[in-house]
Amino acid sequence: MKRILFLCACCVSMLSMAQSDAEVLKKIYDNSLTNGQSYQWLDYLSNQIGGRLSGSLNAERAVQWTKEELEKVGLDKVWLQPVMVPKWVRGTPEFAYIETAPGKTTNVNICALGGSVATPALGIKANVIEVQGIEDLKLLGREKIEGKIVFFNRPMDATQINTFKAYGGCVDQRGTGAKEAGEYGAVAAIVRSLNLRLDDFPHTGAMNYGDTPVSERIPSAAISTNDAELLSTMLKLNSEIKFYFRQHCKQLKDVLSHNVIGEITGSEFPDEYIVVGGHLDSWDLGDGSHDDGAGIVQSMDVLRLLKKSGVKPKRSIRVVLFMNEENGMRGGNKYAEVAKRKSENHIFALESDSGGFTPRGFSFDCNDANFNQVLSWKSLFKPYLIHFFEQGGSGADIGPLKNKNIVLAGLRPDTQRYFDYHHAANDTFDAINKRELELGAATMTALVYLYDKYGVQPINTKPVFKN
Ligand SMILES: [Zn+2]
Repeated sequence: MKRILFLCACCVSMLSMAQSDAEVLKKIYDNSLTNGQSYQWLDYLSNQIGGRLSGSLNAERAVQWTKEELEKVGLDKVWLQPVMVPKWVRGTPEFAYIETAPGKTTNVNICALGGSVATPALGIKANVIEVQGIEDLKLLGREKIEGKIVFFNRPMDATQINTFKAYGGCVDQRGTGAKEAGEYGAVAAIVRSLNLRLDDFPHTGAMNYGDTPVSERIPSAAISTNDAELLSTMLKLNSEIKFYFRQHCKQLKDVLSHNVIGEITGSEFPDEYIVVGGHLDSWDLGDGSHDDGAGIVQSMDVLRLLKKSGVKPKRSIRVVLFMNEENGMRGGNKYAEVAKRKSENHIFALESDSGGFTPRGFSFDCNDANFNQVLSWKSLFKPYLIHFFEQGGSGADIGPLKNKNIVLAGLRPDTQRYFDYHHAANDTFDAINKRELELGAATMTALVYLYDKYGVQPINTKPVFKN
């Protein structure tokens, strides 16, 4: 009897616990949807500051402005963490055309890839060899590549529902295509933009030359998907056509920049840290609204929403706006390095860096036992149509915090439209939906609330389900 009563008491207390969590989540979502700050913040960051390439004046303006805004939220601490970042500049806009006969040209849309060297001042004109990937270079050999522009034209796989997988299947062309092509004597590399739809926007992104000596580096640019199709068609009609382009980009010396950090100090366990963040830098073509302005303002709003919803965190909650994710990862590495040096016990970190679209759930980088704890909270998210809880992947900036104890997570919004904008001139504020952005901020806040309340308590049973 005693045992039954005890069990009943447990059930009742679990029920009331669950109810009160459900109530808190409701409050968080209501607050975000009626009094959210993320959209107004993003309006300023995108429209008043704009693109924030590492080392640029705009990146520093973004550092100062986000620091001031976090101070207005009334956090316990706000500070800047110094970090040296690379400074790459695009220079005068690029120019390119396809030449089918002397004087007969069609202009095409290109942009230099981040980290690329410039062409000679007067540009490069050469024949083109189209490939479907780096592995094709070996098959063709130096004889067919030397003196030509290599055109990497493998498209993203449209059948992948997870568009990040489609991106992952092609990004090597952008990252190391020029380095590899250069080794076969190519004079330049042109890469099909990483975009699932056909349009006129070229998409930039990081590339690197590895250990290739500076004097042997060849320039590399992205071409819009429409123009990639055009170039490919023209090559089929006449393999002797020429491609001309010029770009004036430059790698300068590293400069001082900052991660921006705000903290609500925990009331019971101030030495246990929970991090929520995104990256403050962006590419320079658009204003970086989706990548990753959305993640920045959502992360800032997590701390504000906790306060507005009456949550007094037991653990220390930090928002970290990481600098230089796009072309160096210096901010993420610096934060983890300092945390390690100070022996700070980070238990949970959440990143939003997949666009400001309708949230679907989270991915987790943690062990099975810790993942079971997350699954035990899944039903709390059901009213908000948050259903995707899976292991695998979190976020680039929080990755360096990984150890065997921490749980890392990434917000997973719907990504079907993400690569329409990613790293391109149309990644601008008008592509953001207010309600979708606010739902993302609320969803992040809800998970941070649960981790703050319960800590990381591994549940040692087999996963309830796993895909
Ligand atoms: Zn990003």
